[in-house]
Amino acid sequence: MNSLLKYLRDVSHLAFPFNCFGCGNALDEDELPICNECQSSLPLTRYWEYDDNEVAKMFWGRIPLEHATSLMYFIKDGLVQELIHQLKYNGKKEVGSILGELLGAKLKETPFSDVDVVVPVPLHASRLKKRGYNQCDFIASGISAALEKSNNNRIVKRLRANETQTTKSRYERWINVKELFRVEQPQFVMGKHVLLVDDVVTTVATLEACADALLQVPDTRVSIATDACPSPY
Ligand SMILES: [Zn+2]
Repeated sequence: MNSLLKYLRDVSHLAFPFNCFGCGNALDEDELPICNECQSSLPLTRYWEYDDNEVAKMFWGRIPLEHATSLMYFIKDGLVQELIHQLKYNGKKEVGSILGELLGAKLKETPFSDVDVVVPVPLHASRLKKRGYNQCDFIASGISAALEKSNNNRIVKRLRANETQTTKSRYERWINVKELFRVEQPQFVMGKHVLLVDDVVTTVATLEACADALLQVPDTRVSIATDACPSPY
């Protein structure tokens, strides 16, 4: 690094020390933005190692996927919840990039490495305007960097913001998520294996609707990868 840049960074580091987004402890400059200790204590699922995992099973009988996985278990009040919170509600986009890179590195020696393009689940324009960014874009770009595959956040468009679904009947919920997404650029997924990326898989409805839209394009295959999923424990 050029010495002036290094000087400026060291000075800014003194004025605004960098803290781990997981535990809040001060970081060494080579461990931005999540400290090594937090990284080694992430509750990894290892679901990328086998196809009949708990995330894949969430989609069984609903939509034909090639593979599905999550990187970590989402444990309430735990480290993963903190990281996802920082990413989604505290403007810490770097958390998305690093969690994407960690996930991509796990997928590298697996059948997931067969994907052609990485596609983040889009936010609706109104939500994007409010938050200023789509957290999934950063996860997707981290994955695509690790897998050395392209990523594209303009292929799919979200037509509506997801309405609250708790008071709706099962049929109304189904109508609500149906046609939630539209593939705007089918030429980029036709004949391709798409890796669809979300931050957390809580319910399958949104991912299912997005995957369904992609699968309407002829000769398209879809896999799903998320950073976090419910913990079975
Ligand atoms: Zn930490």
